[in-house]
Amino acid sequence: MACEEAMQTEELEKTLTEEEEKTAKDYYFKSYSHFGIHEEMLKDYVRTDTYRRSILQNTHLFKDKVVLDLGCGTGILSMFAAEAGAKRVIGVDMADIADVAKEIVKENGFSEDKILIIKGKVEEVVLPVDHVDIIISEWMGYFLLYESMLDCVLFARDKWLSPNGMLFPDVARLYVCAIEDETYRREKVNFWDDVYGYKMSAIKAMAMTEPLVDIVPAKQIISDTKCILELDLYTCKKEDLDFTSNFELTMNRQDFAHGLTAFFDVQFSKCHIPTGFTTAPFGEHTHWKHTVFYLDEPIRAIPNSKVYGSISVQKHPKNPRDLVIELTTESPDSNQARQTRRYLMR
Ligand code: SAH
Repeated sequence: MACEEAMQTEELEKTLTEEEEKTAKDYYFKSYSHFGIHEEMLKDYVRTDTYRRSILQNTHLFKDKVVLDLGCGTGILSMFAAEAGAKRVIGVDMADIADVAKEIVKENGFSEDKILIIKGKVEEVVLPVDHVDIIISEWMGYFLLYESMLDCVLFARDKWLSPNGMLFPDVARLYVCAIEDETYRREKVNFWDDVYGYKMSAIKAMAMTEPLVDIVPAKQIISDTKCILELDLYTCKKEDLDFTSNFELTMNRQDFAHGLTAFFDVQFSKCHIPTGFTTAPFGEHTHWKHTVFYLDEPIRAIPNSKVYGSISVQKHPKNPRDLVIELTTESPDSNQARQTRRYLMR
């Protein structure tokens, strides 16, 4: 245990050299340069179709407007906006996919006056306009905040969005609930206790420290769900994205809680009819899957027993695209005393 803790601290205190920082940034945009990641996102129908509906069912909002598509990728959202009647759409992306987006919008008959694709970092580009009426962006990462792209949206909002401008989406919420996950925990964590007869404790420690991103079947949820963060994108600040939240979960069956899982939803509240989607295990699956935090000691649950939790989420001080998450749980009704663990999402 001591060794594990030392390792966590060492990892968290690691300072990236300038070179390493540059590599991390390059890696981030490089991953979005290949079409594979865009294929995965476009095929996520829950995601892409909700954006499509939020735009195309609301032509009254888009007609004659100037729209910024932040992180335009293939240009798909730019084309939705242009089709919805926008006067002009400006798509910005730092990854090489921007070069491809230029070809895509052309192939689909949109002139540069209609959709202008600019390759560059949102924080650095010069737009041909002073203000935009609408910012559309698909900025959500695993665990909502991983990759910190929301910072760029807030930057763009403060720099270009006109006073009555709109954001698509404009509300995001992050939730947690308790899950039973014995089989998978064993497969992913205990596996390292005996690898063809050898111990690999160092990897076991890493496996516990990293939240696991995977699909959690809805039947494994054993508690109610609590919101740990609600963001109004019109008003929230960069500082709000580092937060601590206390929550109370009520168990709904006799089982063991091996971990907590997190998921999010987003809303496009300016739409004519309620429009949004959830990434919850009880919804349709999305490419964001679910984020699992394994507990060191499973908590014994009975119906109506409580788990009191506290979660703190901070950007990694040295590599802000990574997240440091500290989770404390306590269950007076159970065998388990208070337990705290730090996780690193990278
Ligand atoms: N809008 C597209 C792609 C979304 S993925 C779609 O919905 O399919 C997010 C995109 O944002 C990636 O292509 C990434 O390269 C880009 N991105 C992230 N941060 C950025 C920044 N600071 N400046 C420019 N582009 C950024």
